[in-house]
Amino acid sequence: MKRFFIDPPDEVDEALLTGGELHHLRNVLRARPGEHVILFDGAGMEYDAEIVELGKQSATLRILCRRLLPRMPELSITLAAPLPKGERQRWLIEKIVELGVARFIPLITTHGVAKPTEEALQRLGRYGIEACKQCRRNQILEITAATAWNALVAMPRKDEPAYFAHPAEAAPSAAVALGPLSTTWPIWLALGPEGGLTSEEARLAEDHGWKPVHLGARILRVETAAEYLVVAASVLAQAPERGD
Ligand code: SAM
Repeated sequence: MKRFFIDPPDEVDEALLTGGELHHLRNVLRARPGEHVILFDGAGMEYDAEIVELGKQSATLRILCRRLLPRMPELSITLAAPLPKGERQRWLIEKIVELGVARFIPLITTHGVAKPTEEALQRLGRYGIEACKQCRRNQILEITAATAWNALVAMPRKDEPAYFAHPAEAAPSAAVALGPLSTTWPIWLALGPEGGLTSEEARLAEDHGWKPVHLGARILRVETAAEYLVVAASVLAQAPERGD
C-alpha cells in the first residue's frame, strides 16, 4: 500500500495532504476517491486512510485506524559525518534511515569539501522522508544543524559511548571495540571527511573520551564507512526490532 507523509492531523478522523505528497498522490499515482493509502506523521504514528476528496490544493482523507509503530531499533544511534559529494549524499541518508539511525549530525571538519548549507540540509530532509516512505519507517531521521567537529566531540554525553572511525594503526577494530553494546545507552558514532581527520581533530576527540576505531585495511568512502559503523553497532547490540 502506498505511504504518504503528513503533519500530525488536527482532527481525530480526518487528514489533509498538500504540497509534494499531494502531487505524488494526485498526479503521479493518479489516485481516486475511495482508494486506501497509509499515512505516517514522522513521530511514530501510522494511519490507514481512505481518500475522500482530491482537490488541486489539498486532498482530504478519512482516518480509518491509527497505531503507534515507529519501527525503530532498540539501540538509539547518533551518527555524525561530513557530507560526501553529490548523489552520494542521498545514498548516505537512504541507508542510515533504512538501518534505523535516529539522529544525523552533518559535520564541519578541516578537510571537509561538501558544505552542509541550509539548502543542502533541506534536501537531506527530503531524502530522509522518501526513505521512510520506502522502508516503512514511521519515525523520521532527525537531522541537526551543521556542527563543527570540535563542538561535536565536546557535547555532553553522560555515560553514552562514543566512537570515531580513524584509519590509525593503533586504533582497535570496530568489530571488537564496540561490542558488546547495551541498548540502555544511546551510542554516538562519527567519521571524518574524504580528506581525513587532522591529528588535532583526532586528539581532541580522544581528550573528550571518544574512542578511535578502525574499519579494516581498505580505506572506505564516507558513506561506506558510515554504513559499516552503523551495521557493526546494530549487530553488536543484537538489538531486537520493534514492530512487525
Ligand atoms: N585519507 C583519509 C584518511 O587517511 O583518513 C581517508 C579518509 S576516508 C575516505 C573518510 C573517513 O572514513 C575517514 O576519516 C574515517 O573516519 C573513515 N574511514 C574510512 N576507511 C576507514 C578505515 N579503514 N578505518 C577507519 N576509518 C575509516
